[in-house]
Amino acid sequence: MSSTAVPDTGEDAQRLWSVDEHLADVLEAVRPLEPIELQLLDAQGCVLVEDVTVPVALPPFDNSSMDGYAVRTADVTGATEEFPAVLNVIGDIAAGSGPLPTVGPGECARIMTGAPLPPGAEAVVPVEWTDGGTGAGTATGMTAASAAPEGAGGEVRVYRSAQARAHVRARGSDVEAGDLALAAGTVLGPPQIALLAAIGRGTVRVRPRPRVVVLSTGSELVQPGEPLTEGRIYDSNSFALAAAARDAGALAYRVGAVADEADILRATIEDQLIRADLVVTTGGVSVGAYDVVKEALSSVGDADEEGSGIDFRKLAMQPGKPQGFGSIGPDHTPLMALPGNPVSCYVSFELFVRPAIRALMGLADLHRPSVRAVVRVDQALKSPAGRRQFLRGSYEQTSGTVTPVGGSGSHLIAALAHADSLIVVPEELTSVESGTELEVVLLG
Ligand code: AMP
Ligand code: MG
Repeated sequence: MSSTAVPDTGEDAQRLWSVDEHLADVLEAVRPLEPIELQLLDAQGCVLVEDVTVPVALPPFDNSSMDGYAVRTADVTGATEEFPAVLNVIGDIAAGSGPLPTVGPGECARIMTGAPLPPGAEAVVPVEWTDGGTGAGTATGMTAASAAPEGAGGEVRVYRSAQARAHVRARGSDVEAGDLALAAGTVLGPPQIALLAAIGRGTVRVRPRPRVVVLSTGSELVQPGEPLTEGRIYDSNSFALAAAARDAGALAYRVGAVADEADILRATIEDQLIRADLVVTTGGVSVGAYDVVKEALSSVGDADEEGSGIDFRKLAMQPGKPQGFGSIGPDHTPLMALPGNPVSCYVSFELFVRPAIRALMGLADLHRPSVRAVVRVDQALKSPAGRRQFLRGSYEQTSGTVTPVGGSGSHLIAALAHADSLIVVPEELTSVESGTELEVVLLG
């Protein structure tokens, strides 16, 4: 990161950063978090940092894939509806049952799905291939409660022959002991978590979810649910950012709005550093008299130390021109100071904070998917020269078209709420005509 604690006076402050330069600067400064051991469900969505090998074969023993009878194949060879094989039922084997009876010639054991194949038996005949048995525990009444060996008895008629291993799931047919279950770098979704649990892993080593502290600034801000007094507005940005941070994979800590007082803001941020892998603020980064974030952050923590400090810069984008970025405190915690206008704030998050969160998680795929789409507008839209503009859009996949939602005003929260994408108008384009093909970032 090229940031220093130098206030943004002088030459550097005049420089206009491109969106790509700013993003590259952010990503260069953000390192993946140190791995920790987490409980399986806490590791959901995280990147595995160890190769996980299978300790014991899965399934761990030969077991039945059907409710039915475990038989010796020779006993049922040639069996038909007309000439069934009649076998003695020596007991019941439920999933999880203990000592197994041995199936001798002329015998069989009633068996449930998932139960171990008993010694002597070579195949399972499904209950549908039989008369259901004549004993106390008839196959139609199979329940775990009737798992005791004495639960079944009598005889069963089998109407078909069975090949050896029929309806038997072999030990190790899923994975063998010593196999690689999951490679380092795998993102743990539900199926991967299922596999880890199936092979007996209680915890895994992953990069944790980043803890993102979200803080809005502005003396005009009121918390939703509170009465709105004259001249004030509800704080929507801290909710948008906390939700977006969670959506990106982070653990979000939303700190309510902080008044426009540099000392209070500085103290609040310093208090929050203990639980932050990343701090995101909103508001107070323009040039107005109450833009306290700049004032507060130029002296927070170890701002004088090399490598610390927040750089306030202007970006060649619309919305989202003013941005602050750098690191603060003894641990050089990264901080991103986003503009206060709600749309600017959200677009800035999507462009810069989301990739940073994903980089902290060690994910390879940092960006939202984007597509090319044909813009549909009634009238050509003006776009500022030299600025990359992000319009809110409604994308239609079947026709490959996108329609702007609302105007370009960065206060239009309702339009944002009805959009599903960002239309990217390149720097050099000053007018967007109907039929123009542009990049469209799809918001999840
Ligand atoms: P600022 O950059 O602080 O001057 O804010 C720019 C505009 O965004 C002003 O109209 C603010 O009232 C508005 N704004 C700032 N922060 C928030 C917020 N957390 N929620 C909603 N609007 C905000
Ligand atoms: Mg403000």
